Amino acid sequence: MNKVLILSGAGLSAESGIRTFRDSNGLWEEFDVMEVCSAEGFIKDRSKVLDFYDMRRRDIADKQPNAAHLMIAELKNAFPENIAVLTQNVDDLLERAECTDVIHLHGTLRDLRCESCGHIWDIGYGPVKGHICPQCRSGNVRHNVVMFHEPAPEYQTLYEKITECHKGLFVAIGTSGQVIDAGGIAKYFRFSVLNNRDPEPSMDYCFSKVIHRKATEAAPEIRKIILNFINSGELA
Ligand SMILES: [Zn+2]
Repeated sequence: MNKVLILSGAGLSAESGIRTFRDSNGLWEEFDVMEVCSAEGFIKDRSKVLDFYDMRRRDIADKQPNAAHLMIAELKNAFPENIAVLTQNVDDLLERAECTDVIHLHGTLRDLRCESCGHIWDIGYGPVKGHICPQCRSGNVRHNVVMFHEPAPEYQTLYEKITECHKGLFVAIGTSGQVIDAGGIAKYFRFSVLNNRDPEPSMDYCFSKVIHRKATEAAPEIRKIILNFINSGELA
């Protein structure tokens, strides 16, 4: 079976209006990233961090999936055994596009996590305040997003999927390679495709093919490449 691993990052959701660290506007300029997105910051000021994730959760409530999310969902649902969908994004836009079995490497904004028993559950887009763990009734609950200097348990799944798909096709969409080394991952695959809006020479050379366009503009071409690979085992 011809296997495909799709890894997406912030560039996938940018056109849906999800703001990121690297954008030079809005939300992030008001905050020191290490104060609101790190294990140390959480110990120092717990409520500040919880408030911050409340804001981000609220921020995604009215966002809609774009053509690139829909393309990934369509292919994953048509070829569930061939394709693994992994994302660094903590929004739910792939799910809203009705993509199944999305692996969130850095957690999910809509979920809370119990610090006593580890249970994870969906609260939608509202604030954390007032929630207790439905499993053990503990009040020690937090956002389910991986912060800096915290373990990322789903990285284990990433390594498993790389092993499973390594003779296949790797497709990286909208990822700078600064958090997860997408260029390094590409080397394990027979073929690899990178879609980023802007060139990044130190990463681009690792891939068989590079598409420098916005994710929604690149989506039809990526779709064609993936379909062709599943059917023929070759890069178009
Ligand atoms: Zn619990």
